[in-house]
Amino acid sequence: MGGKRMIVIGLDCAPPRLVFDRYRNGMPNLAALMDRGTWGNLRSSEPPITVPAWTCMLSGRDAGELGLYGFRNRVPHETRLRLANGNDVRVKRVWDWLGEQGYRVAALFVPLTSPPTPVRGQMVSGFMWPGGDSPWCFPRELEGELTDCVGPYRADVEDFRSDELDRIYRDIVTMTDQHFEIAEQVWNRKQPDFMMIVEIGVDRFHHAFWRHIDPEHPRHADVNPWKNRGREYYQLLDARIGRLCAAAGEDTAIMVVSDHGARAMHGGFCINEWLIQKGYLSLRETPAAPGPLDHALVDWPRTTAWAEGGYYARIFLNLAGREPAGAVAPDRVRGVRDELRRELEYARNDRGERVPVLVRAPEEYYRQARGFPPDLMVYFDELKLRAIGSVGTGRLVVEANDSGPDGCNHDWDGILIMGGGGVPVRGRIEGAEIYDVTPTILGAFGLARPPGILGRDWTL
Ligand SMILES: [Zn+2]
Repeated sequence: MGGKRMIVIGLDCAPPRLVFDRYRNGMPNLAALMDRGTWGNLRSSEPPITVPAWTCMLSGRDAGELGLYGFRNRVPHETRLRLANGNDVRVKRVWDWLGEQGYRVAALFVPLTSPPTPVRGQMVSGFMWPGGDSPWCFPRELEGELTDCVGPYRADVEDFRSDELDRIYRDIVTMTDQHFEIAEQVWNRKQPDFMMIVEIGVDRFHHAFWRHIDPEHPRHADVNPWKNRGREYYQLLDARIGRLCAAAGEDTAIMVVSDHGARAMHGGFCINEWLIQKGYLSLRETPAAPGPLDHALVDWPRTTAWAEGGYYARIFLNLAGREPAGAVAPDRVRGVRDELRRELEYARNDRGERVPVLVRAPEEYYRQARGFPPDLMVYFDELKLRAIGSVGTGRLVVEANDSGPDGCNHDWDGILIMGGGGVPVRGRIEGAEIYDVTPTILGAFGLARPPGILGRDWTL
């Protein structure tokens, strides 16, 4: 490896199909990077969700080791979940190891960097920054320096699951431009050896516009005013990446990655409705209208299991000694879980047709399961269906997401592209995983891999 400078550009949710195929001819900068570098699908973490995926990528640890099973996680003695933040990351990330070796680093907009923490350089919190007076930069003086230059910081797009598509598009473009502007400023003024940026606008764009840009979406209309927005937004990203590459120069290695992919969302499987139908979950009264599962309405002594929805379902047993009103004795756990698993594997929709279901127990997949792991993790129809936690829907499969208009679900494969700065030219590669990113970055700097981390170094 030649140069010891590197920029990692994270495009949250960018799928191989759009970057490598559909929009490639409109993205000369990314295409050039692929032509003179190494690229391929990047298998996401389990689960393939922003939190934990970026943290898995940057630490070489699986979600169980991190104790992060989604954006929200359970806390002891409660059945509710709490939103994760940067304080929940208790392992080193790649910029910590680089900093220890004397490299100057800049971590910009990476999920789970709020509150910002000391690094050997700069950190700007990502979209989970709570706003207001909460700090969003390390060191704090950087906040004023950046706002003088780009105006008030835009961490995320407000209300992106709504029908105001033209407003959402304008907000996404403004935010993306601002983020890349900040990245250019930090690169030029602070001269880090390693800089990483994550653009969340790509994820927001997919959730808002997928139905309109993907002809394979079941509710896609051939004629719609937003049809070309995908090509337009990806061209804008490519132009911004091109500017950053030009500022970086030939000797800087460039890596472009995503944390997971995207695919058309066909609807959702109402997992708590299913648990009710199968007798695992009891409510004290039937909800009058569809809505989130109200834990105050659950008849806990008569409940064996309940679930949290999202991109996948997390099923929790109502375990005696662990839950506030646990009903399942510890010696019954194995039997109940096996039975539940068998029934789930034969789940059917409202028309009696089989729904393909992937069920995993955390200890079968993770090296460790820290924090509060679910008892079962369930993916529906290869991620064509979300898991819907709401009850009162009266159906097992519904068309819409229960958290607002949404056309896209996450998919297993994200992207990896790297080139420049002496990165080996391998062309298209197969089998890359999200855990490979940290050893590969460290490899590019000629550093040995820290003990215990997952993944393969693609510079070797
Ligand atoms: Zn993501």
